[in-house]
Amino acid sequence: TPPAERYEYQAEVSRLMDLIVNSLYSNKEVFLRELISNASDALDKLRFLSVTQPDLLKGAADLDIRIQTDKENGIVTITDTGIGMTQQELVDCLGTIAQSGTAKFLKALKDSKDIGGDSNLIGQFGVGFYSAFLVCDRVVVSTKSPKSDKQYVWEGEANASSYTIREETDPEKLLPRGTRLTLHLKRDDKGFAHPERIQKLVKNYSQFVSFPIYTWQEKGFTKEVEVDEDPAETKKDGQDEQSEKKKKTKTVVEKYWDWELTNETQPIWLRNSKEVTTEEYNEFYKKTFNEYLDPLASSHFTTEGEVEFRSILYVPAIAPMGKDDIVNPKTKNIRLYVKRVFISDDFDGELFPRYLSFVKGVVDSNDLPLNVSREILQESRIVRIMRKRLVRKAFDMILGISMSENKDDYDRFWENFGKHLKLGCIEDRENHKRIAPLLRFLSSQSVDELISLDEYVENMKPEQKDIYYMAADSVTSAKNTPFLERLLEKDLEVLFLVDPIDEVAIQNLKAYKEKNFVDISKEDLDLGDKNEEKDKEIKQEFGQTCDWIKKHLGDKVASVQISNRLSSSPCVLVSGKFGWSANMERLMKAQAA
Ligand code: ADP
Ligand code: MG
Repeated sequence: TPPAERYEYQAEVSRLMDLIVNSLYSNKEVFLRELISNASDALDKLRFLSVTQPDLLKGAADLDIRIQTDKENGIVTITDTGIGMTQQELVDCLGTIAQSGTAKFLKALKDSKDIGGDSNLIGQFGVGFYSAFLVCDRVVVSTKSPKSDKQYVWEGEANASSYTIREETDPEKLLPRGTRLTLHLKRDDKGFAHPERIQKLVKNYSQFVSFPIYTWQEKGFTKEVEVDEDPAETKKDGQDEQSEKKKKTKTVVEKYWDWELTNETQPIWLRNSKEVTTEEYNEFYKKTFNEYLDPLASSHFTTEGEVEFRSILYVPAIAPMGKDDIVNPKTKNIRLYVKRVFISDDFDGELFPRYLSFVKGVVDSNDLPLNVSREILQESRIVRIMRKRLVRKAFDMILGISMSENKDDYDRFWENFGKHLKLGCIEDRENHKRIAPLLRFLSSQSVDELISLDEYVENMKPEQKDIYYMAADSVTSAKNTPFLERLLEKDLEVLFLVDPIDEVAIQNLKAYKEKNFVDISKEDLDLGDKNEEKDKEIKQEFGQTCDWIKKHLGDKVASVQISNRLSSSPCVLVSGKFGWSANMERLMKAQAA
């Protein structure tokens, strides 16, 4: 037998293990969810590969997860028939942290100051494989990859800085393929080795795993057994002793152990949407995407005809923590299945434009080939049609939030994802019609509460042709700008564009319901109240003054003109009709700096 080799953990893993073992005390049962989800991932990988390499299924055609408990010794074993790991993969996967959920967790810990025993953090992130050490003294991972003809055993202990790997030599322990985790529970956590407890946790955490999960359960059946009747009793009844001896039957319970299917394996998206409750949709969302808040909205639909697919989409309650995901659209937001086989969640705009990358969900297509690759996805006509439909459904869902009776919902949506929609104005001309009604702005007549463009249009004066806007760095400066004076006097509403991206977004929209957006700081603002006679008079009277001012200011201004747009300020600086607005100039300067 080759001896076990000892390896040191990467420093980050040591830190994570230390934290898990010594400071997280609540919500320990999440270890089971994490380990089952790893088993499920391993099965997904195998199923995917077996489409083109059916040989991989040799030896164990069933793709399942089996959990056995040993109450007396405090041991839980979790066995899957998934992809397994080679010796090198054991080192890479269970001794170092890649870009997995575990890495995200570590980052969040780094960002948050008080972490002591915070169960919320575990709930929010998968802490991955190492969560086994929430409840274990010792973890043994025995695993067989189809890539290797040997089976390897990884062994680690809580509070140790190293682990070992050896070859499996016990013929009784050889697996056809896949991975078996043997969890040696800590003294205080041996309760997890009760079969009923495990069954309950599996039901709770894994109802949406698409592979069967079996738990080892004690069962019983009743049996009728014949017993001889007591002769004394017969006598008492005063019956003839000579009569035939009567037979009596008794019911006994016979006990035995067997595997019991513990989860529901039909994917929720294949069910009839009328039979799925909101709670079930929300649970599915939280478990699939590792979210801890219910989504703001969901939409379950099937499309038929040209392209057939089923999908459930969700709008999250909050934007992802920490970083700005607009610039990083690879959010693993859409899980693509082909005929129920998980294909990928690593997309970059193929199924959703990047500005909608906050929308999460699953998509299951019957029309794509199972061995679909990135290239196929990018060039497929089917995918293009799917994308169009998905985007449309996403907008319907967002529109639904905006029409919800609970106004807070849309406020919340807008606060989290308003920026994304504004980016959509810039990047997705084709969907302007769908985006515009969802936009919200403050205005001269509504400085605290956001209004929609529809509300603006409804509030327009009968003779008003355009939608007026003023871009500024804050509501205060927008309110105090002299450009506003005449419009306020005429009771015309002006949108305040105070978010840097607002102005570009509006300029891309150009118009809403055939009403042009007009910047009130531009030179040729026409409020439709021109009086030619009077203008001529004024021009004559003040023309020379203008020339005089221009002469003194020289190149500092393009021109000096008489204006009728002010009511109390003596003069105002305006932008040229074709030049940048002052706000844009401010932005460009900020970017150049
Ligand atoms: P994550 O699942 O987010 O990648 P984990 O810490 O849960 O992070 O797991 C780390 C890695 O270990 C996985 O990505 C996978 O490669 C490997 N792994 C864990 N459990 C199994 C398993 N049952 N079968 C095969 N590989 C596994
Ligand atoms: Mg995992």
